[in-house]
Amino acid sequence: MDPYAEIREVLLAKQQELARRLESLKQNLRGGRSADSQEQAQELENAEVVDALGNETRIELNKIAKALDQIKNETYGICADCGEEIPMARLKVHPFADRCIRCATAAEEGRRR
Ligand SMILES: [Zn+2]
Repeated sequence: MDPYAEIREVLLAKQQELARRLESLKQNLRGGRSADSQEQAQELENAEVVDALGNETRIELNKIAKALDQIKNETYGICADCGEEIPMARLKVHPFADRCIRCATAAEEGRRR
C-alpha cells in the first residue's frame, strides 16, 4: 500500500483543476479586441492580470509535477536538509513541503538574520 496514495489523489485533483483554469485563462486572453481605445486599454490590463494568474498557475503545476515525480521515485516526503522523513501530518497540510518543520524553521530563521 502506497503511504502517499491519498496525497497523490489530492495532487492529481489539483493538477486537473489548475489545468482547467489555465485553459480558461487562455481562452479569456484570446477574446476579441475592441475598436474603442479605452476598452482596448482595459483589455490590455485584463490580459496582464490573466498572464500573471497564468504564471502562478504554471508554477503551481510545476510543483505538483515535481511532487508526483518524487512520489513515483520514492523520494517524496524526505527532508531536503536532514534527510529525515517529513511527518505525514505536515505533508497533508503542505503537500509541496520539501523540508521537515525543524529544518524549515531553521531556514526561515536563517533568512531573517
Ligand atoms: Zn529536516
